Amino acid sequence: MDTLEWMNLKPTIDDMDKWSQLWAVHDEPIPHISCRRCDGSQSIHDPSEPFVHGPLCTLRSAQSKFPWRDLQWIMRSLRQKQ
Ligand SMILES: [Zn+2]
Repeated sequence: MDTLEWMNLKPTIDDMDKWSQLWAVHDEPIPHISCRRCDGSQSIHDPSEPFVHGPLCTLRSAQSKFPWRDLQWIMRSLRQKQ
């Protein structure tokens, strides 16, 4: 699968409300996304790496491992609806 194809895959979470119940976006010190259930976080610089949750996180297996991609997908589909 090439990068573009991967970026276009429809995520499991496809609306902003659901996404923001699972993830939080932070600007400092560099933009990153953190899990709301554990200490896991992911920098904007490695969006294609699977997200690493804490060992006891309840979202470890259930949710998408690519929150940046999902966020981008959601933003793009919101734009298309306007
Ligand atoms: Zn987590």
